[in-house]
Amino acid sequence: MKWSFQIGTAFGIPIRLHLTFILLLLFLTVTFQKNAIAIDKGGLILVVLLFGCVLLHELSHSLMAMRKGIKVFSITLLPIGGVAQMATMPEDPADEIKIAAAGPAMSFVVAAAVLALGSLLGHARETLLFPLTQPAAGLMPRLFWANIFLGALNLVPAFPMDGGRVLRGLLAMRIGMVQATRWAVGFGQAFAVILYFAGALYYHQLGFLILLAVFIYLGAGNEEEDVEFRSEIADVPARDAMLIRFDSLSPQTTIPSSLDVLRHSQQEEFPVLADGKLAGMVSKNDVLTALREMPPEAVIGEIMHRDFIHSAADAPLGKVFRQMEQQDKDVVPILDGGKLVGLLSFDQIGRYHMLSTKRKAAESRA
Ligand SMILES: [Zn+2]
Repeated sequence: MKWSFQIGTAFGIPIRLHLTFILLLLFLTVTFQKNAIAIDKGGLILVVLLFGCVLLHELSHSLMAMRKGIKVFSITLLPIGGVAQMATMPEDPADEIKIAAAGPAMSFVVAAAVLALGSLLGHARETLLFPLTQPAAGLMPRLFWANIFLGALNLVPAFPMDGGRVLRGLLAMRIGMVQATRWAVGFGQAFAVILYFAGALYYHQLGFLILLAVFIYLGAGNEEEDVEFRSEIADVPARDAMLIRFDSLSPQTTIPSSLDVLRHSQQEEFPVLADGKLAGMVSKNDVLTALREMPPEAVIGEIMHRDFIHSAADAPLGKVFRQMEQQDKDVVPILDGGKLVGLLSFDQIGRYHMLSTKRKAAESRA
């Protein structure tokens, strides 16, 4: 995610902090100093602890996703909550339900742990009654209720909240992914409209709901487009979408002379062919780095990657697309009977989809 930087790693997942979060902390520091009533450091400590709770919530989603074979690229903490960036979405609705439910489940577990700790210290009553009494209570009641709120809010069955995903998963088992997504998106957007009016009517207390409403409304719409895109490309054979006119390099070509090919090409990645067979892949960046760091007589064969993934021309596009997401590859060579026949990239799949949609529209007009 843009405007974020890494603060650590957990279970191999980079944890990132969004810059707006730092702004929030600065803002709180300044307001605490101005505001004679709230000058305690407790407020800041609370914010940091709360984000620890959000992190636990996102980690729980992520660990469940990893168990279901989905790669998690990073977790980013934003002022409105956390986002776990996953390589792709689960194919099986049952997996989606488990991944979505894991976050709120963790929030409730954390709440229970805080309550248990509070009881040990003799604060059980204070912790449970905090929303009614609201004295200048300590950290524990606030942490307990924040986790209850985090779990419950996310369980609202409105896409893209966790509850919306659980709902989509349950519906998908009966009416299929695309229809289920339409329903879940409809619920999500209706919920966003309600939130918006609640925020607008009680602006002074609930103004933040407007922001949440916009986030939910747009997020739901994006999800619908994404699912429709996936279902439209799912069964198309890779050969129908692949790029068939492309440039390639030879392993014996020296790095400087390979620039003659790069100069006339828009490709970012090049297949390397030895005796007509695909031997490796090399990117424009690989070549430019080698140009700086290797002697001029070095050849493409020395810098090409042999660990590329490839796909068959008859493979369904949906499968290739998922594979590219999971392996984080931008370009995949397409083989037919061992011979390189084309290249697929995310751009190329997008172009294919756009053109085939336009073609269908034109044909339905005719
Ligand atoms: Zn969640």
